[in-house]
Amino acid sequence: MSRHNPFIKIEHCNLAFKLQFQKHKLQVLKDITLDVHQGEFLVLLGPSGSGKSTLLRVMSGLEKEYSGTVEMLEGVGFDDISFVFQQFALFPWLTVFENIALGLISRKESKTVIHKKVLTVAKTLGLSSFLQSYPRELSGGMKQRVGIARALVTDPKIIFMDEPFSGLDSFTAAELRKDLLRIWEEKGVTIVLVTHLVSEAIEMADRIAIVTPRPATIEKIISNTLIRPRQNRTDDFYALEDKITNLVKP
Ligand code: ADP
Ligand code: MG
Repeated sequence: MSRHNPFIKIEHCNLAFKLQFQKHKLQVLKDITLDVHQGEFLVLLGPSGSGKSTLLRVMSGLEKEYSGTVEMLEGVGFDDISFVFQQFALFPWLTVFENIALGLISRKESKTVIHKKVLTVAKTLGLSSFLQSYPRELSGGMKQRVGIARALVTDPKIIFMDEPFSGLDSFTAAELRKDLLRIWEEKGVTIVLVTHLVSEAIEMADRIAIVTPRPATIEKIISNTLIRPRQNRTDDFYALEDKITNLVKP
């Protein structure tokens, strides 16, 4: 991990959306300065509507209408980036195998490579016996497993995740969080995850960037030094949860 050579460096970033039929713009990001360190698990935590998704889109290069600078590590391109969304965004007419394979197909990988990589990542996520299923046949948790598998199959250097567990019941979400942490540790990939849940941020993050209500600014960055795997019913966990809850403005 290198503080001097961050994966992404955002400096003095501002963004305002033009609104239809209105003179004024909607300011969503205000003077955001933030680094993403290599290999870290960074969480953006803030209330709904604050601008977290917009910030994630700016960081990842999906959104370009901002002022300020966003720099990625030299040599990192769009092919090194993956996304996981709350709504899964799977193609209903494709099988699980095909959904996972998409990124490899668009990179024109050979059939043999595709087969090998999809099978490997499916195994990691417990999807081996679902490869010929269609998304409609899967539970929400399994759909998101496909979403994560699809993100991983291209061996990304960084994964952006926008509230990936918010649509799932708490038990399924807990299971998926554990799997994601295991994968993150195995692969050494950098993850930036957006959430509005304090406990999720504490369970996952190396650092938590607390985002204020719109226009989003970074209220504070908390380094989370709790030992992994994080035990969520300990005094230390509760103390950090209290501290952070007090910093998050509704
Ligand atoms: P969050 O992810 O924290 O819930 P968002 O980044 O999705 O917040 O949105 C922040 C604000 O920006 C909201 O008020 C939303 O309505 C507005 N917004 C988001 N995208 C657009 C857009 N493309 N055009 C206009 N307004 C937008
Ligand atoms: Mg959002």
